[in-house]
Amino acid sequence: MIDQSSRPTPREMRLPQDEQGFPRRPPALPAKGTCWYCEHPVDNVRRFCSVACRDDYYEEEGETGGNGS
Ligand SMILES: [Zn+2]
Repeated sequence: MIDQSSRPTPREMRLPQDEQGFPRRPPALPAKGTCWYCEHPVDNVRRFCSVACRDDYYEEEGETGGNGS
């Protein structure tokens, strides 16, 4: 039997503070240069070409939390 009283615990998880204070959903998607929804070219820092695309994308992703089918 091995005494595991000093078991290493993963406490290295450092969650970044949202300094910008994002209003709602966290930006989980990386910017890839095109709209995630319609593939329209956008700035390198943007993920969607418009708010409508963003909303539609997240709506399809169902990130708002389970719409029981
Ligand atoms: Zn788009």
